[in-house]
Amino acid sequence: MNQLPQILYIEDNPDNQRLVQRVLSARGYQVVIAEDGPGGLALARTTHPALVLVDLGIPGLDGYETTTRLRSLAHMHNVPIIALTADASPGSRERALVAGCDGYLSKPIDARALPAQIAEFIEGRRERLPEVMETELLRSYNQKLVERLEARVRELTLANAQLQDLDRMKDQFLATLSHELRTPLTSLLGYLELFDRGMLGPLTPQQEEAVRVMRRSSEVLARQLNNLLYFQEVRSRSLNFVQLQPLDILRPLIAAARERAAQAQLQFEVLLSEMQPIEVDRSAFEHLVRNLLDNAFQYTEPGGRVRFIVRDEPTRLIIRVEDTGIGIPAGEQEKIFLPFYQVDHSLARGHPGSGLGLAIVRHIVEAHGGQIALRSAPGEGSAFTIAIPRRQVAGG
Ligand code: ADP
Repeated sequence: MNQLPQILYIEDNPDNQRLVQRVLSARGYQVVIAEDGPGGLALARTTHPALVLVDLGIPGLDGYETTTRLRSLAHMHNVPIIALTADASPGSRERALVAGCDGYLSKPIDARALPAQIAEFIEGRRERLPEVMETELLRSYNQKLVERLEARVRELTLANAQLQDLDRMKDQFLATLSHELRTPLTSLLGYLELFDRGMLGPLTPQQEEAVRVMRRSSEVLARQLNNLLYFQEVRSRSLNFVQLQPLDILRPLIAAARERAAQAQLQFEVLLSEMQPIEVDRSAFEHLVRNLLDNAFQYTEPGGRVRFIVRDEPTRLIIRVEDTGIGIPAGEQEKIFLPFYQVDHSLARGHPGSGLGLAIVRHIVEAHGGQIALRSAPGEGSAFTIAIPRRQVAGG
């Protein structure tokens, strides 16, 4: 079966849209409508219209510019583009032709004449300008386009400068806020730990439980703040590479993780190989491992297992954190590395977070020239694997 010839109509006025739709559908055309220039261009890319009707007065990218862009699409070179306009001022027809239109119909639309006019253009009718006039008009049309472009560049440059100012203010605000919050939080955490360890006198079981809850919540808060501060810091400073034994950094992190696993009723397995010293940024490396472990604990239910594996290879150090937790859907696995991105785990349970942890992890891994890989399946668990290359000594 033959497809109906398609007319692309670019028009923002609903009355005209309805009229043209009615008149042309009755004659066996299929009319697709775009409200503006960009919409028309998008439709033209995905469809193959037999003819385009474009209102020259559409807002934004106007009908002239839309026509010029349509013409630049390979499959639109020979498709008739007809201008529709209420502008009867001298020269408007010529301007439309020079922009790439093949014909010009004035508004109001003559419903009786329209189908025959459309058919003529589809059959090959083309209006042309005398060559001398075309050259002259093309020059001034190009001039106009360049001026518009210049104005847009100026606007964008200004907007960009304003955005950069706002971005700096935001950074400053976040940095100040997190510093201000961190100081009181540190003393809060310190005292809660003293209570928890029984160093400030005996507590009743109820008080012990309350202190434990307060401690956990404060630790979450501290983690968010650290990530926020670190996110600001790590983007603006260069790494400070030092040669160190990875175990020196890993040991205290593993000890803290064991404690946390016991509290959260999780199994925690550690598999370490012999490790040669490696050149890394100490605090960045520590932050990286802590974040991966924190996530594994945070997103694994009691009774589950977290595994921490470090393997030393001649050219790189491999760190792998596996959990049997809630897992990450395939469609989210790229996005979780974006700043502030969090998977909607509303079906599971509330996990307070900032969505910054993995953005920081990726930044640190890349700044070390390394790679990060993720394997995960919802309900089964996740495994984050990081490879940090050993730096080549120049001339060595
Ligand atoms: P945060 O944990 O602070 O929300 P992250 O950047 O560390 O931020 O993680 C982003 C998102 O990735 C989390 O909100 C969570 O949905 C998901 N995610 C990270 N690690 C895991 C994991 N081990 N298991 C399941 N989901 C995870």
